Amino acid sequence: MVGFSSDEHIVMLPMMAHGHLVPFLALAREIHQRKGFTITMASTPLNIQYLRSTAVSEIRLVELPFRSAEHGLPPDTENTENLPLDQLINIFRASESLEAPVRQLLSEIVEKEGRPPLCVVSDVFFGWAVRVAESMGTVNVTFATWGAYGNLAFISLWMNLPHRESESEEFTLPGLPDRIRFPISPLHQFLRMANGTDSWSRFFQPQISKSLRSLGCLCNTVEEVEPIALEWLRNYMKIPVWPIGPLLPSALLNKSSSSAGHFYKHRAGKQPGMSVEKCIKWLDLQKPDSVLYISFGSQNTISQAQMKALASGLEESGVLFIWVIRPPLGFDLRGEFKPEWLPDGFEERTREKKQGLLVKNWAPQLDILSHKSTGAFLSHCGWNSVTESLSQGVPIIGWPMAAEQAYNSKMLVEEMGVSVELTRGLQSEIRGEEVKEMIETVMGENGKGAEMRKKAAEVAERIKAAMNEEGEEKGSSIQALDN
Ligand code: UDP
Repeated sequence: MVGFSSDEHIVMLPMMAHGHLVPFLALAREIHQRKGFTITMASTPLNIQYLRSTAVSEIRLVELPFRSAEHGLPPDTENTENLPLDQLINIFRASESLEAPVRQLLSEIVEKEGRPPLCVVSDVFFGWAVRVAESMGTVNVTFATWGAYGNLAFISLWMNLPHRESESEEFTLPGLPDRIRFPISPLHQFLRMANGTDSWSRFFQPQISKSLRSLGCLCNTVEEVEPIALEWLRNYMKIPVWPIGPLLPSALLNKSSSSAGHFYKHRAGKQPGMSVEKCIKWLDLQKPDSVLYISFGSQNTISQAQMKALASGLEESGVLFIWVIRPPLGFDLRGEFKPEWLPDGFEERTREKKQGLLVKNWAPQLDILSHKSTGAFLSHCGWNSVTESLSQGVPIIGWPMAAEQAYNSKMLVEEMGVSVELTRGLQSEIRGEEVKEMIETVMGENGKGAEMRKKAAEVAERIKAAMNEEGEEKGSSIQALDN
């Protein structure tokens, strides 16, 4: 490792979305704690307010001026959260207006410290930051907050790379083994029709092209977990790609549940529907690997019909569960819980039989996944959920819904063998019978379930090894971070 002194300064620029702010914050803490560097994280006022609420006091937070009305956004909108899909592109476009304030921030640092910061770490969507960093006499490192498969699928999509398509509406990319096929999403079909002339491509293509001129790219994954996708990225991007993940709060790995819960409680300003203590106390009463944890992340929910089918299959299976339940599609997400979302009497029956816990809105996910009684995770395959689950050796039942989740799910099923896919998309029809069968298979002590748990445990070992800081031979993620 090159001997930098602890008075180095790094400036970080995350995209204004929770899925980006959180890994950026974790990266900032990781660098600060390991190297002692000063880290300045800059974003718009409301995002800075949110970052402040996470109680991470060691990171310097700086507000960049931003007026949502000037960008055709609803009042006080500075984050992708709760923004209707047809307005989403506006916030990405608006992020370009941060260029001038970032330039100003960097000049102030140069003036005060007599030299530029060591580097600028910017979101992969902030391609403009490469030029700004260079003009201030420093370098830019781009940070892709997803895993490598999600990253390559997105890059190939936005950059209109030639895809080889199969009849089953899947695509593969030159340079990837033929067996790796990605699903063609509605977004993909839309872009194909628009042929690069749509407002999405007009924003993302130039930003990603500019980001490819960074000094290198940080990726929130592990070398030994996604080797093929990382090799593809390196060949395509032609810059170093450093897999530095997974960026989990270190508290999780130390199994110190209270601080992990504290960190995540604030993720989207959400209040947990049940305390960490209560969840843990219930899990303590159960046998190892006997509980199914169900959650669809911080933004997604399912329809009422899907919820009923899921509940009936779950009840029929008799498998123990913790289910994070939130209002179904079409209902006010901040509204009160209504028993009619579920089959008649479901809540009472499962409570009496002590079959499970229904947690309203938000659960301490990390604490649940790291408990020995948790045997599988029914998940939408958001990247944070995936890495949290795998780091604890918990296999997955996938129900990808949006963004790059279907790509993550494919990788988990086909390349890693740690997941089975229940269904895909928000419109899909599921039947209680299918749910029951799949849950029984995965939670079974033998057969497929046992095999998945064994593979998930192996992946957890690889992740642990990648994050090892002890002894001569440091883990790959730690080495990548040092580099
Ligand atoms: N999460 C949580 N409790 C919940 C739901 C989600 O703590 O009830 C956390 C979870 O641990 C993860 C994040 O929220 O860190 C969800 O991120 P992910 O990338 O999985 O999905 P997204 O919410 O971005 O779709």
